[in-house]
Amino acid sequence: MSVSPPVPPIELPEGLPSAAVIDLDAIAANVRALRGHAPGAGLMAVVKADAYGHGLVPAARAALAGGAAWLGTAQLSEALALRAAGLTAPTLSWLTVPGDRYAEAIRQGVDIGVSAGWALAEIAAAAREVGGTARLHLKVDTGLNRNGCTLADWPQLLEDALKLQADGLVSVVGGFSHFVSADEPADPVNARQLENFVTALDLATTAGARFEVRHIANSPATLSNPDAHFDLVRPGLSVYGLSPFPERPPHEFGLRPAMTLLGRVANVKRVAAGQGVSYGHTYVTSTDTEVAVVPLGYGDGIPRHASGTGPVQLGGRRFRVSGRVCMDQVVVDLADGGIGRVAAGDVAVLFGGAPGEPSAQDWAQAAGTINYEIVTRLGARVPRVHTGSAGR
Ligand SMILES: *Cc1c(COP(=O)(O)O)cnc(C)c1O
Repeated sequence: MSVSPPVPPIELPEGLPSAAVIDLDAIAANVRALRGHAPGAGLMAVVKADAYGHGLVPAARAALAGGAAWLGTAQLSEALALRAAGLTAPTLSWLTVPGDRYAEAIRQGVDIGVSAGWALAEIAAAAREVGGTARLHLKVDTGLNRNGCTLADWPQLLEDALKLQADGLVSVVGGFSHFVSADEPADPVNARQLENFVTALDLATTAGARFEVRHIANSPATLSNPDAHFDLVRPGLSVYGLSPFPERPPHEFGLRPAMTLLGRVANVKRVAAGQGVSYGHTYVTSTDTEVAVVPLGYGDGIPRHASGTGPVQLGGRRFRVSGRVCMDQVVVDLADGGIGRVAAGDVAVLFGGAPGEPSAQDWAQAAGTINYEIVTRLGARVPRVHTGSAGR
């Protein structure tokens, strides 16, 4: 029998009403685990949207410490923030708009994802202005019908990009795409997209492009589809220890949730049976009871859709939000085993990664959304407290 070492409880720093405690060692360990899932490929840790709510710079440093060779962001401003913090790892941004900060991106050596001809023209102008060479990854739409160049326009994009490369204004270093339904591995759209991707890569080779990196795999494809790994996998969610498959918990993949959301009980008081609780009295106590007030609400990113259902752990027991989620707080009826066991100052766990704790996935289910949204929408009012040593 193997006994795992005791896990120290995750603490809410004294005096804080709430915090998202983020274990940087978990992020590094998750990257190591993901590299094990895709041993033949490099890994780009996707750190867009403040690293899915985990804190852009510390999360990026931890991911690099865990073996990520690349960082990925949606917007150029996110990549430039990484550069401003001193991170020099290869970094790609793929969602740019006309008038974007291309000159800065070129100066800072940020790779740019290109989906359309207008972007090539602007990037070429910026490269001339800066006297530099822009590093480009050309994005092909293999079926998502979101960003990316259609297969019909792909030959032209290649030709234009390679012309600019011959002029020394750009260097075409990558070719990439994005999945529609990688979280449903049996969906035939996955195979169709891979076929389209290979077709696009062949066209690129014929046109004379020599991509250093070809990449299409997000978290679910990294974890479930080795045929999609190519030179580089591009996971986001799983870097933070969450599973992209709602029915399969992260530990099945060797992943550990990095974020624990904690709130300090602000008040506990008696409420009689038959009393409505919180706005609209959508919840009514069924016995004489105690209620606890936890200072996290939709102003902190707690979804109001989880009113009456979101799980809250107090004193080692799991309760549900009683009634409406308010802007700043939720109320929890302690009738189910919590009366006399919870006091002001105690720490509630809304979600975390320890066995038995509610998870971001539980909150997603309660709110009718996905775990991605639960961590990423966490509000600016919630302090991010980083623990662990990875990347520091
Ligand atoms: C967000 C994103 C990813 C990461 O997706 P996950 O499912 O979080 O792993 C990868 N590539 C692109 C283009 C993205 O927008």
